[in-house]
Amino acid sequence: MVGASFAALLNTLRPDWHIVLIESHPMARGDDQSPTLYQPSFDARSTALASGSVDILRSAGLWEKLKAQACAIEQVHVSDRGLPGGTLIDAKEFGLPAVGQVLENAWMGRVLLSHLQTLENVTVLAPVTVKALTPIKGAAKLTLEDGSGVQSTQVRLAVIADGGDSPLRKRLGIGTRVEDYRQHAIISNVGFDQDHNNIAYERFTDEGPMALLPLRPFEGRQRSALVWTVPSRQSEEVLALPEEVFARRLQDRFGFRRGLVCSVGTRSAYPLQLTEACEQVRSNLVLLGNAAHFLHPVAGQGFNLALRDCANLCAVLAAHPKEVMGNIETLQAYEKGQALDQQATISFSDSVTKVFSRSDLPLSVLRQLGFLGLELLPPGKALFSRQSMGRAGVQAYSAAIAKRGTR
Ligand SMILES: Cc1cc2nc3c(=O)[nH]c(=O)nc-3n(C[C@H](O)[C@H](O)[C@H](O)COP(=O)(O)OP(=O)(O)OC[C@H]3O[C@@H](n4cnc5c(N)ncnc54)[C@H](O)[C@@H]3O)c2cc1C
Repeated sequence: MVGASFAALLNTLRPDWHIVLIESHPMARGDDQSPTLYQPSFDARSTALASGSVDILRSAGLWEKLKAQACAIEQVHVSDRGLPGGTLIDAKEFGLPAVGQVLENAWMGRVLLSHLQTLENVTVLAPVTVKALTPIKGAAKLTLEDGSGVQSTQVRLAVIADGGDSPLRKRLGIGTRVEDYRQHAIISNVGFDQDHNNIAYERFTDEGPMALLPLRPFEGRQRSALVWTVPSRQSEEVLALPEEVFARRLQDRFGFRRGLVCSVGTRSAYPLQLTEACEQVRSNLVLLGNAAHFLHPVAGQGFNLALRDCANLCAVLAAHPKEVMGNIETLQAYEKGQALDQQATISFSDSVTKVFSRSDLPLSVLRQLGFLGLELLPPGKALFSRQSMGRAGVQAYSAAIAKRGTR
């Protein structure tokens, strides 16, 4: 998600630069979107995009295609298992048409990869694995392996977006700060017998928080994307439950506000922890996405933050001649520019996770925090500044696009 997004964003700003996207899993080509091709990022999950992210994708010329399968979140219903009622946050009250948009990752992958394959100066190498990355004078040397053997190449800047486990980060000896939440997120697309009416649900249970995001209907049927946080020790059991037992357990925890659970799609589990890389930049290399910071999904911030990082890095790189793109000063300018946004978003996401996993706080407190961390939340100072910082990233990228237009 992040490597492909970065390549698309940078190409929009600097179509004259040569970008190589390297992915170890096979990728579909053009319109041939074989469902048998599995890609870890573009799996069965869905992503809630904040409006700032939509603006970035729009600036990069991607939103027109992405929006065909987007589902707007117009209201967020916050409730607490064990307490009656709940609270409705309505985008209209804030003068906004929507709180955010939900996209299925598989659709995002389809649009992004087809787009990248049409670009003259973007080369997609897949399935190719980066086996080693060696810093050399003024460049990074990559050792690449495909089915037929090993080759090496040099790049001015290596953008490492190889996921939360980041084998390359480990090989470079970059340490991490890790906090294990001892929770897993169980995801599935589920159907109810009542429409979602563009409402996202946030529900707190004694086992952990739960989110239900509205999706576009599929073959005439309403669907929602479920993210259900359970203690890690229960995740295998919950995954293995027969469909009707899973549906009953979900109904018991979620209640009847959407009527009866009538279908449950394939389930997958994701272990949850906070991981922060101790270094994000070195000469000729930068870490992005989960490789730089892996967040709990409960606040819907991981990809939104990564996209702001991508936009800011693109804006900084495009403001410099390509000869200095790998210089440590250039990369530190990016790191400095994003530091506040990253710190605020990571600590917001971490505190939301911890508070929302407690069963002893009243709904009014939880409501103040907002669950999805999207953009209409109550105007607390911290949230406001987080939002302004996020907007600054969006503005830097949009300004760079506007400047490019006038060159
Ligand atoms: C259940 C869940 C729900 C979420 N919901 C939201 C949400 O609503 N909103 C939000 O903003 N965020 C959300 N997130 C976070 C979001 O999914 C992540 O930010 C995003 O997946 C990060 O993508 P990435 O590209 O950094 O890493 P990955 O998705 O892990 O991708 C890494 C890629 O690198 C490739 N790779 C690895 N090693 C090599 C190598 N040596 N050579 C070549 N290729 C390699 C892998 O094959 C893979 O394709 C959610 C996360 C989870 C788990």
